[in-house]
Amino acid sequence: MYDFLLTPEERALRDEVRRFAREEVSSDFLRKMDRDEIVYPREFVEKLAARHLRGIRFPKEYGGRGMSWVAEVAAFEEIGCLGIALGCAFAMPSIVGEALHRFGTEEQKRKYLKPYLEGKLVAAEALTEPRGGSDFFGATTRAVLEGDHFVVNGQKRFVVGADGSDFYVVYCRTNFQPDAHKYNRISLLIIDKGPGVETEHLYGLMGCRGAGTGRLVFRDVKVPRENLLGELHGGALCFHQMMIPERLTSAAGCLGTWGALDLAVRYSNRRTAFGKPIRKFQAVNFMVADSITQLDAARGLAYLAARSVDENAPNCRRLVSEAKRFATEAAWNIVNNAMQIMGGIGYTDVYPLERAMRDQRLALIWTGTSEIMNLLVQHEYYQEVLEETYDRRKMEKDAMNPDERERCFTDEDMWKVHESEAGT
Ligand SMILES: Cc1cc2nc3c(=O)[nH]c(=O)nc-3n(C[C@H](O)[C@H](O)[C@H](O)COP(=O)(O)OP(=O)(O)OC[C@H]3O[C@@H](n4cnc5c(N)ncnc54)[C@H](O)[C@@H]3O)c2cc1C
Repeated sequence: MYDFLLTPEERALRDEVRRFAREEVSSDFLRKMDRDEIVYPREFVEKLAARHLRGIRFPKEYGGRGMSWVAEVAAFEEIGCLGIALGCAFAMPSIVGEALHRFGTEEQKRKYLKPYLEGKLVAAEALTEPRGGSDFFGATTRAVLEGDHFVVNGQKRFVVGADGSDFYVVYCRTNFQPDAHKYNRISLLIIDKGPGVETEHLYGLMGCRGAGTGRLVFRDVKVPRENLLGELHGGALCFHQMMIPERLTSAAGCLGTWGALDLAVRYSNRRTAFGKPIRKFQAVNFMVADSITQLDAARGLAYLAARSVDENAPNCRRLVSEAKRFATEAAWNIVNNAMQIMGGIGYTDVYPLERAMRDQRLALIWTGTSEIMNLLVQHEYYQEVLEETYDRRKMEKDAMNPDERERCFTDEDMWKVHESEAGT
């Protein structure tokens, strides 16, 4: 729809993914996932891999396509229509792959990243603990270094792909010094599925079904030291890096709610009430106006964030957090409006809207809640304004000739006026 945003190569990828989503994923398969009759959608993963659609951002030598973040967002607009569970299966190589590609040794890339992108292995990421997800740095899963291996004990909950994965990237506490800074406590380990690694299923889920979500329990798991990703106690760096794909893919997946909106638009054109199509009622068509405006605004932010990451812009982290919050909230509103427009039939399983609604509620919570996104956005923006922009204005003023300088106030000058008026 917005082809001018994309290069010919990115457009071709988007069209390819659209065909894939339409032709390779049946509604019967999605319904089986809804009923939890599928433990993990490995078949979907293998189909993606057969078309080189896993981790399309990563270099070709590891099985990717060497494309841009913008391309990945464009692909997500199509995959997002399939629901959050398949969206997550599509996103995970981008997230786990980021850690392996950025922080992995060449040997780790050959052993894990390449077969992962080729669909021979499946992986999951384990951050959240029963103790809490938002307070990530309080992680209590312990990895004690004993000679050439770690011994891991602890639990991670809500891990998508706990069932179905061959290996996990797991954040563990490795520094037990009581005064250790929170950024110097945690390490990231690759843990193979094997002895001592168990999956438990304690709850049913409202949405995101059929994606193997469960609790991982580690009991005296021996992990070779060479499975450390990045530096010992350097997990904070990996975490901050992984949050970019984690949140950008969350935002991008939400753009798939164009499917729900288009469905409601077509329905409102055919459904009649009081002798006319319901689209003629302003109460209905204004919901459409509101939804498409929110969707386009979400698109704008998601592509802006994607481009900023491609360009390694200094404010890319803030843009990614903004996009995550805005797109997930917009998607929730879009699906809610679509259901309202469709009336009772929208609430049944005749249409995929009820799945979209169950799924989209999760998007507001996972990969960092809306509240945590706000926390990050304000923090980053305060830093930008107080440290960087102020300095830039001051530098501009210093560079001016004296006449111009007379007419130009800095924040500091204005604050002095304020102080003298306030008598402080
Ligand atoms: C279906 C599903 C799949 C998931 N998949 C994965 C996965 O694959 N891997 C993984 O590691 N995790 C996964 N998660 C976990 C998810 O990321 C966390 O649930 C999420 O980060 C929130 O953590 P929490 O549930 O512990 O809530 P809490 O951290 O306990 O937060 C509860 C509430 O308090 C608010 N809050 C907390 N701290 C603050 C603060 N400082 N300021 C303002 N408000 C605050 C939160 O916004 C929230 O509203 C998944 C969760 C679900 C439900």
